[in-house]
Amino acid sequence: MNSIGHFVSNESWPGTTSRVSDIINPATGGVLGMVTLASKADVDAVVQTAADALPGWSATPPAKRAMVLFNFRDLLKKHMDELAALLSAEHGKTLPDAKGEIARGIEVVEFACGIPQLIKGEYSEAVARNVDCFSVRQPVGVVAGITPFNFPAMVPLWMYPVAIACGNTFILKPSEKTPSVVMRIAELLAEAGLPAGVFNVVNGDKEAVDALLDNPVVEAVSFVGSTAIGHYIYSRGTANGKRVQALCGAKNHMLIMPDADMDQVVDALIGSSYGSAGERCMAISVAVPVGKDTADRLVAALEPRIRALKVAPYTDPSSELGPVISQQSYDKIHDYIQQGIDKGAELIVDGRDIELPGHEGGYFVGGCLFDGVTTDMSIYTDEIFGPVLSVVRTESYDEAVKMINSHEYGNGTAIFTRDGDAARDFWARVRIGMVGINVPIPVPVAYHSFGGWKRSLFGDHSIHGMEGVRFYTRLKTMTTRWPSGIRTGAEFNFTGGKDV
Ligand code: NAD
Repeated sequence: MNSIGHFVSNESWPGTTSRVSDIINPATGGVLGMVTLASKADVDAVVQTAADALPGWSATPPAKRAMVLFNFRDLLKKHMDELAALLSAEHGKTLPDAKGEIARGIEVVEFACGIPQLIKGEYSEAVARNVDCFSVRQPVGVVAGITPFNFPAMVPLWMYPVAIACGNTFILKPSEKTPSVVMRIAELLAEAGLPAGVFNVVNGDKEAVDALLDNPVVEAVSFVGSTAIGHYIYSRGTANGKRVQALCGAKNHMLIMPDADMDQVVDALIGSSYGSAGERCMAISVAVPVGKDTADRLVAALEPRIRALKVAPYTDPSSELGPVISQQSYDKIHDYIQQGIDKGAELIVDGRDIELPGHEGGYFVGGCLFDGVTTDMSIYTDEIFGPVLSVVRTESYDEAVKMINSHEYGNGTAIFTRDGDAARDFWARVRIGMVGINVPIPVPVAYHSFGGWKRSLFGDHSIHGMEGVRFYTRLKTMTTRWPSGIRTGAEFNFTGGKDV
């Protein structure tokens, strides 16, 4: 059976504890392997390794750091199929979806390859007579990343390529549900020429996370995961004097105007609400049609498309909807569906009765569609993180915008319309971090930054792009005066005072 430890100093390390957690195949419910759960002492040892590697790496010229990332990028591309298979086996998402997330992660590596340009300082000549002023960005030091199960490759790649490009050393604590792909990627980083100790992986649960948050050597923490845990990590990390960015949960609305192209809307919702079984922080989980006619047309067009979704494990190339991650998630989603019914929402498509021969123990939930949802229902207020779409009917555009702005989450949103005026008003007024105009999942490209508002992000910085460079560096500003020998009349030339 596959047994996963940690990756430290460019080699695997079993750690010193016997605490483990099962890695489950969500398509069968069977055990794929075990992952070691680090103790505080193990985490502290890994932090020391990262601290020891810091002076050498932070003094390495940015262009040389970038050379390692160029190699790393090539290795990720070369091993794409192998990485996607590792990822899908533990997560359950389809292979094209797995390759898609690795490709988006590679974009961040490509961005980080430009670090000599990105980290360039600023210089002001003659801020006063003979006085110049300049600023540089220096690495923050040892930094940690704590990541969720749903993008086991991409979310860590949002963090460490930028962090190590900036000259930091890094400790990644991936989700204990999906640890394997990161372990293989760590080997590729070593193969790319990264010095030992610069990038380390420590597997574990709350004990490992708390050890990272409490270790004074760790200067900064990037977290991606649920809001409850993110808020805890932000509070504990900042109380310990660390810089923390915590990207958290979501409830993303799509506003559908009466003039929208309904075919495009339905295509967009099928992909964004049911892709990856709805386990995306940018999934659309609320459709907000404006006007009764728009809502009726939407529900009529969506229903047959959801019923036709192919629910199957990733090993079936025709699969469109794989399992959710765990028995706990499966139960939670069923519980929310029942709450929606009990509160009077109309379950138009019920995905609860899926049966797949040979996969009876798997956590498959078919696509679900609720109509007549109201804002006081838990299926509206809470992040379900499954293939469940709620339709909330509104009478006007203003009512729809007000509703979206009132939700506690502010990660992503989209509007579908042919009206440029409405689209412009929407992106200008909506209190959400990422906005799509006729784009259902507006995940920014790597050279822009990703992050929500409200309870979808704690901290001052979004992730990757220039926000990533700012988060992983500290600004230092120098003011210099050089007394001028020429002005004082002293001799500083080569001629010893003779005329030439
Ligand atoms: P999670 O919060 O359960 O776990 C995230 C990380 O925190 C994991 O590494 C986990 O081991 C650790 N953790 C869990 N419980 C902990 C505890 N009590 N104390 C300390 N650490 C703990 O999240 P998840 O279920 O793995 O991922 C799904 C969530 O992530 C969803 O809410 C989703 O919206 C969110 N997410 C957000 C973004 C974003 O960019 N905003 C991106 C992806 C996922």
